[in-house]
Amino acid sequence: MPRKIPQRMCVHCRIMRPKRELIRLVATKDGVISLDPSGRKPGRGAYVCRSRNCLEQAIRARKIDRGLKARMDETIIAALIAQMESLAVDFEEEDGTTVANKSKSSFP
Ligand SMILES: [Zn+2]
Repeated sequence: MPRKIPQRMCVHCRIMRPKRELIRLVATKDGVISLDPSGRKPGRGAYVCRSRNCLEQAIRARKIDRGLKARMDETIIAALIAQMESLAVDFEEEDGTTVANKSKSSFP
């Protein structure tokens, strides 16, 4: 019997993917949004592809606020982008090559 892999939808491109291929964003009761790479933080979650483009677009187009019913101000957006950069090593482009490898020269 094939094992059922939980699927989640990216809030940006609306493609269903296995949960581990997405990154979770979580909003606490206080409405504070943060990235949740472990997927275990309590709160309301939204999922985005592990792609710099999807995450950045989802943040900038405020699709995450809507998904999480939380308000994102510029401070939170900046913090999310900073967190995203620190996780960039995990991000993969659509063709499967890692962003980290591609951008090595531009981030010495
Ligand atoms: Zn996506």
